[in-house]
Amino acid sequence: MRIGVLAVGEVPREVPLELAEALPKIFPDTACMVIKEPLSVPADAFVKNRNQYNSSVILSRVKVFADGNSAFHRFLGIVDVDVFASGLNYVFGEAYTPGKAALISLWRLKPGFYGETASTEILVLRALKEAVHELGHTLGLKHCSRGFCVMHFSNSVFDTDKKQSLFCGQDYLQASLAINTLRQHP
Ligand SMILES: [Zn+2]
Ligand SMILES: [Zn+2]
Repeated sequence: MRIGVLAVGEVPREVPLELAEALPKIFPDTACMVIKEPLSVPADAFVKNRNQYNSSVILSRVKVFADGNSAFHRFLGIVDVDVFASGLNYVFGEAYTPGKAALISLWRLKPGFYGETASTEILVLRALKEAVHELGHTLGLKHCSRGFCVMHFSNSVFDTDKKQSLFCGQDYLQASLAINTLRQHP
């Protein structure tokens, strides 16, 4: 699977670089590249009375970009704005299940958001877990009941910190099968 990592707006530069290095160690037969030109955050995604961005609107722009670029099987968009999805106060990410586009937001993954000391290391690890989770959705994976599995739903950053960046055995198998299918039908 070839994954393009795509900044949407300004993001700390370490995050896309480190994710592009870490993701191929988690997904089998996978290569990852950071896309040089970031997208801009779509202005129409901003919802004034919430002071937040609609993640589905941003995700749909990542999908448009993905649909126009056949060099990659999947695109991971990264934003650093506060995002919500329908029915949820906030989300860490969103993805088409299955589909070509995934999105994560760093806004509520930063230790500073919770009044803690800034740490790129903690931010990158949290972002990696959410990225693997959302990319897992793009391969058709659903939420997993196992608390340690990366496909476990994160209600809060506490859940994100508790889970691993890895799939449980069953989800790893399903991800591998889906990636195999991509290789057969590029
Ligand atoms: Zn999920
Ligand atoms: Zn699992």
